[in-house]
Amino acid sequence: MVQQHETVHADLAVIGSGGAAFAAAIAARRKDKTVVMIEQGTVGGTCVNTGCVPSKALLAAAEARHVADRQAFPGIRTEAGPVDMATLIAGKAGLVEQLRADKYVDLAAEYDWPILTGRARFTDGPALEISLDDGSTQRLEAEHYLIATGSTPTAPPIPGLADAGYLTSTTALELDALPASLVVVGGNYIGLEMAQLFARLGTQVTVVEVLDRLAPLEEPEISDVIAGVFADEGITVHTATNLTAVERDESGYTLTGTTADTDNDGAVTARAEQLLVATGRRPVTAGLDLDTVGVKTGPRGEVVVDEHLRTHNPRIWAAGDVTGHPQFVYIAGAHGSLVADNAFDHAGRTLDYHHLPRVTFTTPNIAAVGLTDAQAIEQSLACEFRVLPLEYVPRALVNRDTRGLIKIVAEQGTGRIVGISAIAAAAGEVIAAGVYVIANQMTTSQVAELWSPYLTMAEGLKLAAQTFTRDVAKLSCCAS
Ligand SMILES: Cc1cc2nc3c(=O)[nH]c(=O)nc-3n(C[C@H](O)[C@H](O)[C@H](O)COP(=O)(O)OP(=O)(O)OC[C@H]3O[C@@H](n4cnc5c(N)ncnc54)[C@H](O)[C@@H]3O)c2cc1C
Repeated sequence: MVQQHETVHADLAVIGSGGAAFAAAIAARRKDKTVVMIEQGTVGGTCVNTGCVPSKALLAAAEARHVADRQAFPGIRTEAGPVDMATLIAGKAGLVEQLRADKYVDLAAEYDWPILTGRARFTDGPALEISLDDGSTQRLEAEHYLIATGSTPTAPPIPGLADAGYLTSTTALELDALPASLVVVGGNYIGLEMAQLFARLGTQVTVVEVLDRLAPLEEPEISDVIAGVFADEGITVHTATNLTAVERDESGYTLTGTTADTDNDGAVTARAEQLLVATGRRPVTAGLDLDTVGVKTGPRGEVVVDEHLRTHNPRIWAAGDVTGHPQFVYIAGAHGSLVADNAFDHAGRTLDYHHLPRVTFTTPNIAAVGLTDAQAIEQSLACEFRVLPLEYVPRALVNRDTRGLIKIVAEQGTGRIVGISAIAAAAGEVIAAGVYVIANQMTTSQVAELWSPYLTMAEGLKLAAQTFTRDVAKLSCCAS
């Protein structure tokens, strides 16, 4: 018989232990509320264990090797040798472990809430029944509940794929031997990062994307630049390609498909030792028994919430990837603290997503905030745009890499900036300034006249704003 522990009570029960869960728990503890957290896997969730931290740590390493291999500066000689993948992965694991301890495990102890190791599901009450890892069960009753169960990789229904098996971003970041060749299915942000990461470590990489361009949700000019960068780095790209079969034998994978491209009669074949599928992530709700407590899910499997992140059950809230909002850890964190305020203080807080930044950590970075030109048109905004190639940005010239651009979309008449997109070295840093521009409804003429430090990539923002009224090719230094 399964051992049943005595019922535990708390002000807040949190399912999951990622960015959303921790932000909510910390905010609740700061209000002197009691918290119990339940985690079925590794404490810390996706970002620190299998997402942001390990991927960016390995991308930084891969960039170091790439720069050594492709030195742009006269008079400097460097070279890049083969990669000791097992040591590289062990170094990454050490960093992850350290950050997991500092930013998650130790914080829970400091703020003083327990983390139960097990799987939670809802039962009448509402209450939670937790199947603990030791085989026993625990009932947990709380004033409020937070579903912060995140998301998990999904794969398209390509014949043969499920049987062949494949890597996801999670398992690819654990490989202890570098594959000689790799096909990456998916040319959106995780696929782009993974493709460049492995290519720069020395793997022969092919990317297959079903839509007609890489980075298909970004400005088309950005897709052109990243396609050029990938070509320079020897990455093969098949866009507008529908995969129709995946086969696996002892030497690896063979993928076949069709493309709108007329070369080879529209047939595409890609072969590689390894296959990585990066075609998106879906919310995790399986096994939570949400129906029992009246919590509804939407068409993408997301937990349906109102603008205050309350579900259809007034005592149950959801935050982070599971809500179907854009999958960024800073959204998860903002959601978590908002739930604590709304649940315990009746704060009625909402979030404004219109100045939400997004970054793809390829180099050059792809970064954007606000609307693309196409989105502005969809919203019937009368807009105009300018594109500043990086050859006009002094920082890019001294870096000896002018591949890239900055694009600004502004409302006609007022000049109010509604979207900024960039592909440039450190564009992820530049876009932080873009967030302030859009949040404060600044105009192109305001940005064109503001101070901007010379020889930064951020100066490109000022130059791009100036292109609305003048020819930046005729400026002296310092964007003046
Ligand atoms: C490769 C990759 C790179 C990324 N890079 C970035 C980046 O650079 N910047 C950025 O902002 N975002 C990045 N992200 C996205 C970011 O990691 C997520 O948006 C964020 O971690 C989501 O946090 P969360 O709290 O919603 O869920 P998660 O962190 O996924 O946490 C959910 C937790 O709930 C647990 N759980 C699920 N069901 C149950 C259950 N029934 N009982 C108990 N526990 C349960 C899971 O085990 C998991 O630990 C990246 C993601 C990936 C995959």
